[in-house]
Amino acid sequence: CLSLFWPCFGLIIYNLMFFGVLPFNTFTVSPWMLGSSLGLTFLSLDLADRINSIQQEVLDAKSSSYTDSLTGLKNRRYLFKHINADVERVLRAHEQSLKTGKAIIKNKSTGDNLVFFLIDIDHFKHINDNYGHAAGDEILQGVAKVLETVFRDSDHLVRWGGEEFLVVSELHHEKQAKMVAERLREALSSQKFNIDGHSVSITCSTGFARYPFFPESPGKIHWEQVVEVADLLLYQAKSQGRNAWFGIFDHLLSARGITRHNFRSQIEKAMEAKTVTPAKSNISSGNVAKIRSIK
Ligand code: GH3
Ligand code: MG
Ligand code: MG
Repeated sequence: CLSLFWPCFGLIIYNLMFFGVLPFNTFTVSPWMLGSSLGLTFLSLDLADRINSIQQEVLDAKSSSYTDSLTGLKNRRYLFKHINADVERVLRAHEQSLKTGKAIIKNKSTGDNLVFFLIDIDHFKHINDNYGHAAGDEILQGVAKVLETVFRDSDHLVRWGGEEFLVVSELHHEKQAKMVAERLREALSSQKFNIDGHSVSITCSTGFARYPFFPESPGKIHWEQVVEVADLLLYQAKSQGRNAWFGIFDHLLSARGITRHNFRSQIEKAMEAKTVTPAKSNISSGNVAKIRSIK
């Protein structure tokens, strides 16, 4: 508004001088010049402000296109956009270590492996059926919060779809991956969700696999194929009673004879033949698969 007022003020003075209403002297020229320069200043400030807000809108639009609106976690689009940098970093570290024959220098803040945890809520359909879709949504938001407490800020937490989540974590050892999977299983199964005065418990099943799948041929298998392995393992956790995790990190399977094309079938065969034995959660007497509701 100010940016319009001052040029108008300057223009009026100028026109009054032009038509002889005001004399052409210091007292009239100065307000005209002052009005014009103030106008220009306010106009530039206005423009800068507008450019800033447009830039912010673009940033907001970008970030919301990478965020899941229900849970606030990242979405698939985010992962596909950002995972390549991590994949390339661990790939380079492994290739370098193979070349030099030296073990990868372990860095505390980053791991030398990416572990893909695929997590699916058990019997989630029952939640919707028993308590309604809105309650299901509320529980999904609660699950996201539990994930945030179990995993690190630097991990990628993604709502993979529906009641399925994918977490990518940089870890050094199988032991760490097993610990994290167990911590998640435990945290989620002990969490009580308050739904309309009911205390509702849920469980989850998890499959995890490590990238690079073959450290001796690190580039052979694509990260998306590692997610497929995590999915196979998730399926095992489901079929063996749920509220459980299965994972492959260290294994003795050789990369020889395995191609990207035959990878999945070879893994399935190796698991059937027990050449590859996944690590798994240690719950002996059947897992708690039911949705528990305590009034
Ligand atoms: P399982 O233990 O085998 O995974 O059983 P499940 O019932 O969880 O599996 P299923 O895939 O049959 O059902 C998933 C359900 O999740 C079905 C769908 O309605 C529900 N769901 C998916 N996305 C959402 C969502 O955004 N909100 C709510 N409330 N429900 C959702
Ligand atoms: Mg599912
Ligand atoms: Mg499910």
